[in-house]
Amino acid sequence: MTDGQQPDLKQVNTVFDDSDPEEIIRWAHETFGNRMAVLSSFQKSGCALCHMISRMGLQKEVDVVFVDTGVNFRETYETIDRVRETYGLNIVSLHPKRTMAEQCREEGVLYITPEGQKRCCYMRKREPLFQIAGKYDALLASLRRADGGRRERVPIVVPDSDLKLLRVHPLANFMDQELEAYIQRHEVVTNPLHEQGYPTISCDRCTTPVLEGEPRRAGRWRHLEHANTYCEINPTDRADYTI
Ligand code: SF4
Repeated sequence: MTDGQQPDLKQVNTVFDDSDPEEIIRWAHETFGNRMAVLSSFQKSGCALCHMISRMGLQKEVDVVFVDTGVNFRETYETIDRVRETYGLNIVSLHPKRTMAEQCREEGVLYITPEGQKRCCYMRKREPLFQIAGKYDALLASLRRADGGRRERVPIVVPDSDLKLLRVHPLANFMDQELEAYIQRHEVVTNPLHEQGYPTISCDRCTTPVLEGEPRRAGRWRHLEHANTYCEINPTDRADYTI
């Protein structure tokens, strides 16, 4: 933190509970300076957050961290390149210890069972994030209450005991219509898969399009009959998280 003081999280959550994204980003920047980064998987809301960082002139100070599982869609990698070029952001890619081919050779195809999926997500999504422990004091992510499910009451600020930093959610109050309007108004770079029936996008092994009338996350781990619908890279998405 810029002045060595820990923010009072309860007070921060009260003050910013219904704030808009830029107010929260401004507070985070004033508090953490260049010790904050964005965590993004370059889905729609993450791309909007990247645009906001750039629009506020913070692109040279605030890194964007991407956990590259090695099995993302080609469209996702192309979106990352377009975001980097368009918004001048420093995108830091983190990688698992093993390639997916090495993992499959040594442990089999994990993502085809609920238990294996948890292990695969842990090794390919959560574990790589440990590489940034100590580098940042705050990690901004684009979770929104309008996403529903485990996110419908996501706090503005929460501690992340694994990474020993604060998770900040500037888009917590951003409604679907506001997000869409923001993207259109600013012609935000987005992943073209969103226009092809993918409301949410993760690894190509575990993401399918969603049919009309299905829940937003129905395309995630469809082959596991939705035994789990979160990879748990975000502490507030974890089944054992309590507010
Ligand atoms: S989404 Fe699927 S392939 Fe990607 S890390 Fe999780 S289980 Fe593995």
